[in-house]
Amino acid sequence: MFRFNDTHLMIQDMFRQYMMKEIEPIIDKIEDGEIPAFDPLRRMVDTLGIRSQVESMDLDRPIMSGAREKREPDPNNPLEGMEVVAGNILVKELSRVSPGMAMSFGVSTGLAGGTILGKGTLEQKETFGLPLLKLDKIGAWCLTEPGAGSDALGSMRTSAVEDGDSFVLNGSKTFITNGPVADIFVVYARLDRGSAGKEIQNFIVLREDPGLSTGNPFDKMGMKASPTSEIFFDDCRIPRDRLIGGARERKSRDHVKEGLATERSGLPAMALGVIERCFEIAVRYAKERSQFGRPIIEFQLIQNRLARMYIAQENVRNSFFRTMEQTIYGGLTRLEVCAGKIYCSEMATWVANEAISILGGYGYMREYVVERLARDARLLEIGAGTAEMQILTMGEDLATTWKP
Ligand SMILES: Cc1cc2nc3c(=O)[nH]c(=O)nc-3n(C[C@H](O)[C@H](O)[C@H](O)COP(=O)(O)OP(=O)(O)OC[C@H]3O[C@@H](n4cnc5c(N)ncnc54)[C@H](O)[C@@H]3O)c2cc1C
Repeated sequence: MFRFNDTHLMIQDMFRQYMMKEIEPIIDKIEDGEIPAFDPLRRMVDTLGIRSQVESMDLDRPIMSGAREKREPDPNNPLEGMEVVAGNILVKELSRVSPGMAMSFGVSTGLAGGTILGKGTLEQKETFGLPLLKLDKIGAWCLTEPGAGSDALGSMRTSAVEDGDSFVLNGSKTFITNGPVADIFVVYARLDRGSAGKEIQNFIVLREDPGLSTGNPFDKMGMKASPTSEIFFDDCRIPRDRLIGGARERKSRDHVKEGLATERSGLPAMALGVIERCFEIAVRYAKERSQFGRPIIEFQLIQNRLARMYIAQENVRNSFFRTMEQTIYGGLTRLEVCAGKIYCSEMATWVANEAISILGGYGYMREYVVERLARDARLLEIGAGTAEMQILTMGEDLATTWKP
């Protein structure tokens, strides 16, 4: 089983210190809208060396998505798969402080940026993908529509029609992370090819394109550090070369499903960040808080909660490592991604709620952090497809492709 080596542990330590020193003290102001989340995220990208990593990227090399042939680890290369490991550590450590910021960061770089880098032409990668990875530009990934959520592909209404050297988009998207602030939108739409039928393609749309507008930020239960809105396309005209992949268009829906799998495979890192922090806060508090003349950690009912939280933490950690291992060395299956998505997201919500219980009234107070993590964690169960959708997908795979 893949585990962190000394280099990974050093990176984890460095990222943790950075988040606690630079993000934690201002997180309430970010959540209250006094500081835009992307200001500290941009400083983070510069300070933690992410910008220089992106600048040295080889754009011809395929990005690691997990959908590859299996290969053996190289025991002599401690830096193998470092982009995947460092990315996962970053998301985990950011989620310990703010899952909302981790989501905004992940959507902009991993989903919007990753889709363009994975599927775009060289020119699209250079012009739109790299600025997203460096956070010079903010990205949004637009699939869900008011009438098309769980059935995002089957019920999609947003259309793209060819018109000379342009495509013209009409329709709307909703619940779009970074919608109110994004510069670059990766948009899924039904491309109408007349008698040849309709197929789902993705397009790069820019904030300044005529006919694009975004709604006011939604007022949400959690993920308050991450702005969300509707996006409207009203005869939105974009040049032909903004079809992602250009001439290498995809005819099947597999490319959309790959995007969803990428989104889901980031879940264990976010969930583990939430769980680790809640567990640590709960143990520390249970040792410090006394009732009936004893620290509450001495009560067996509290120990029972903590022991079960620990079990969840270690299982989610295993899922985190397994997802990384299969992304680096190949073999990530849809069945495992869906299983990991359900388990890790449900455990994040459960552990955060257990932490609130252990902290009693203080757990319900903003100052004690776990209430924020609990509100944010709930979204992990909904975004990137609800548990029901994961179960239905798993059922399909178990009935068809799975072999014991
Ligand atoms: C804060 C936030 C950020 C988001 N960010 C993005 C983003 O950046 N980009 C993007 O494209 N989307 C985004 N989403 C959308 C998210 O992916 C959807 O909300 C999610 O997929 C569920 O769709 P829905 O809300 O339309 O629910 P619905 O599909 O209407 O589902 C409602 C309920 O019915 C259940 N259900 C539906 N069909 C079935 C069935 N066949 N069998 C059993 N039960 C069923 C669902 O599980 C759910 O419990 C975001 C959502 C939120 C809340």
